[in-house]
Amino acid sequence: MTSEIKTFEEAVEFHGHTCPGLALGYRAAEAALQEIRSGRDKDEEILAIVENDACGIDAIQVLTGCTIGKGNLIFRDYGKHVYTFLNRTTGDAVRVAERPDFTLDRIDDTIGLLRSKVMQNTATPDEEKEFRRRSGDVVKKILEMPADKIFSITHVTLKPEEKARIFGSVKCGICGEMVAESRARVRDGKIVCIPCSEHYSRGW
Ligand SMILES: [Zn+2]
Ligand SMILES: [Zn+2]
Repeated sequence: MTSEIKTFEEAVEFHGHTCPGLALGYRAAEAALQEIRSGRDKDEEILAIVENDACGIDAIQVLTGCTIGKGNLIFRDYGKHVYTFLNRTTGDAVRVAERPDFTLDRIDDTIGLLRSKVMQNTATPDEEKEFRRRSGDVVKKILEMPADKIFSITHVTLKPEEKARIFGSVKCGICGEMVAESRARVRDGKIVCIPCSEHYSRGW
């Protein structure tokens, strides 16, 4: 296991752009790796449980080496900026939760207004430029802030979860494609995959 922590630039390269969300994920992973005294994951020594699927998760993947494919990045769709990391070798676990008193508005109190204009395509080119510059400043501040001003970081006890499990597959009774048993559903008495078990009204 290597102990050096990847740079923010490496996270940006993976994510495709720089943004405050990525910077927050970067700081969460960095703080966690320091707390559980672990380098980047090579073979599932680290387990990450993330409670949102926003930009920051990409930084967490780059820094910790935890990925969906390896089965050691677990996504729970809670819409919370909370991340839990377990060092499976030592059993050390840490929960990193964004503090309720931390908001981007505290760093730049009017950037939210500008952001919604940019998102709704109503910003002038100058406003867009200004948004990019100020969001760069916010990123810089996030990267320089003490981690405990952003997150509350607590050591927790987790039961070591199993390594990625291998499930048998079954054939979907509607589309005929194979689906992991653990994800199969029953619809009108047929074993089906999730997309087939849901309504077709979505149009794709
Ligand atoms: Zn982003
Ligand atoms: Zn199907």
